[in-house]
Amino acid sequence: MMNRPVVAAFALVALASVTMAGQARKKVFISVDMEGISGISGSDQLAATGAEYNRSRKLMADDANAAIRGARAGGASEIVVNDSHGSMRNLRLEDLEPGARLISHSFKRSGMMEGLDESFDAAIFIGYHAQAGSPSGLFAHTGSGVVADVRVNGRSLGEGGLNTLVAAWYGVPIVLVTGDDVAVKQVAMVATGARTVSVKRAINPRAVELRPLADVHREIETAARDAVSAARRINAVREAVYKVELQFREPFIPEVAENLPGMQRPAPDTIAFSAETMPRAYTLIRLLYRYINPD
Ligand SMILES: [Zn+2]
Repeated sequence: MMNRPVVAAFALVALASVTMAGQARKKVFISVDMEGISGISGSDQLAATGAEYNRSRKLMADDANAAIRGARAGGASEIVVNDSHGSMRNLRLEDLEPGARLISHSFKRSGMMEGLDESFDAAIFIGYHAQAGSPSGLFAHTGSGVVADVRVNGRSLGEGGLNTLVAAWYGVPIVLVTGDDVAVKQVAMVATGARTVSVKRAINPRAVELRPLADVHREIETAARDAVSAARRINAVREAVYKVELQFREPFIPEVAENLPGMQRPAPDTIAFSAETMPRAYTLIRLLYRYINPD
């Protein structure tokens, strides 16, 4: 049995930690993609021209809102949501939980990581999907359909992996990843230490087994709360150089891009370049696959 002074000391420690959590005032970045959102299973849900699109943009907001509620409960006082899918105008501000700011539109240098810098304490990836070439994983791709593979310093990475390196450059840990089971496993290989919520099971690149929405939302909210509450900024991870190999499905973009300063073409379908920082490497990757149009 404890004597009274020990009990009093324990009570003081408990009180102190509650007070610290209450004063945490953390800044959290949430990048929201669409393919890995709970309830989404068809390509007619992924673009404004699709018959099911209005349904899916609400589903996207629902997963994002679970993360926002959890982040706030875990001590986030400032939350920036970056719409990270396609047009990047899927999320409607009026559908989001109050208190979060929204970055909208795809004309962004840094795409899915637009708005992130060293002022953030933690980042969350919602609705992520498997990388290009994955045999299963719903809508597996990297960047867009033109990309076969992206390698950074020799390591093949999907969107979640690339985004993790950008965050690490700024000293920001990825604390939670959601998506199908294949996607969250892939991203967690790079974002070690991140909590994961698997919102659906990928049977193959098109068929999925969807989990009940209420269960998934509860899990995301709880995981976000615990993840943000435990989040601590990390030492910035900065390699001496970032050597990028961007391999395409067709040789069209390399045909033009090899003429740009600093770009090499080690194979007909591949552009290689070096960047001094990960954010710059990331910007160039996006520029190459998105803004050179052979048609
Ligand atoms: Zn997407």
